[in-house]
Amino acid sequence: MFPLDGNGGYRVDRYYLDFDWQAPKTPFEAATTIRATSTQALSRFNLDFAGNTLHAVTVNGAKADAARDGDELTVTPRSPIADGASFTVKVTYTADPTQTRHRDDAIEDYGWIPTPDGTVVYPQPNGSRLIFPGNDHPGQRAPITFRITTPGDRTAVANGRLVSRTRVPGDRLRWTYDSEQPLSTQLVQLAVGTFELVESEGPGGLPLRDVVPESLVEPTAAYRALTPDHLKWLEERLGPYPFHRYGILVGDTDLGVALETQTLSLVPKADLLGGKVDAERNMVHELAHQWFGDSVALKSWSDLWVSEGHARFYERLYSEAHGGDSFEAAMKTAYAAHDQWRKDFGAPAEPTEPNLFKRMRYDGSALVLYALREKVGEAAFQKIERAWVSGYQGRAAGTRQFIALASKVAGEDLEGFLRPWLYGSKTPPMPGRPDWVVDPVT
Ligand SMILES: [Zn+2]
Repeated sequence: MFPLDGNGGYRVDRYYLDFDWQAPKTPFEAATTIRATSTQALSRFNLDFAGNTLHAVTVNGAKADAARDGDELTVTPRSPIADGASFTVKVTYTADPTQTRHRDDAIEDYGWIPTPDGTVVYPQPNGSRLIFPGNDHPGQRAPITFRITTPGDRTAVANGRLVSRTRVPGDRLRWTYDSEQPLSTQLVQLAVGTFELVESEGPGGLPLRDVVPESLVEPTAAYRALTPDHLKWLEERLGPYPFHRYGILVGDTDLGVALETQTLSLVPKADLLGGKVDAERNMVHELAHQWFGDSVALKSWSDLWVSEGHARFYERLYSEAHGGDSFEAAMKTAYAAHDQWRKDFGAPAEPTEPNLFKRMRYDGSALVLYALREKVGEAAFQKIERAWVSGYQGRAAGTRQFIALASKVAGEDLEGFLRPWLYGSKTPPMPGRPDWVVDPVT
């Protein structure tokens, strides 16, 4: 779907991101250091990198040749890298935190998202290249160390654990974060602002840390306090929360949609300033993604239905039991539209680049899981879900793995059932619902 995304010939072992952040919408000096291991002999290799002003690239400390073409940065080291060798690439550049790209689907704006007093980032689907050079592919994961310096009156946050906060000359602060677990570049979060860090505990003492612009702490407090309930509800269905911490980054932005950035979901303020039912739907959706899409990463963008379908499925299941719409009624509506969505947006597991984040990947894909539950029954369905999140925890997996695992756990070959649901041009009958009908395609 994005044929140039991600890169071959090596594996990233860790990213070190250095940002000397200055002020909103103001360029600043940045460096990305990548520790990698080659998987073949390399005379040159690529990174995904877009915009910004490139200064220099070194490999193992020696200046390397660097050529840019579109979003590809081709690096030619002075001497070739042997197969299986560890090597270090350092890219220095001036970062431009105003770089944003646009999609005509649920994503809209992605990349750097400036806020009145700082920034948040929205890397999904392939906007991390606007922020740092790397392997910008959902199935290629690595741990990240963030080292962000800010003016003394700002707070920087990122995925994972705050390792240290130290004063540096010029009344500045250096914030170091460790992602703890590997993550896909599309799930990176780093934000700067006049934040308050609101700490609490979830089930089992799980550390919770919300990151909230000062003026929004009180107005969002009541909904943010529901996270422990959401964790408990999801853990009852899916098993243990897969990371060491969680929190909500309240975005002081008019972004249309939240994002499941790993261990620290970005939730635009409007999602937390309206009605309770909608707020909880958004919160449960992003939290469910920590299991589906974050802990179990996508193998490729064509597997997006797995993560969005599950996030929507649990969001609706939760909402129905907490004052929201009937899940079954929503699925019946999605069923009626499914042939039209197949035509307009591709079958659930067959998106194309322009229709990737259209409705088929949300309610249209939750419907596939709903059909699977009707087919195998509640108990087997829950076993499949738990086997998926525990068996593929910390790994990338896609449609093929899901069909195989569902078949194994249910004890019946589900290929013939799931393939038409996921790839067919016509919507199959809904098991146990002979009265459900699909509207004609227009
Ligand atoms: Zn989602």
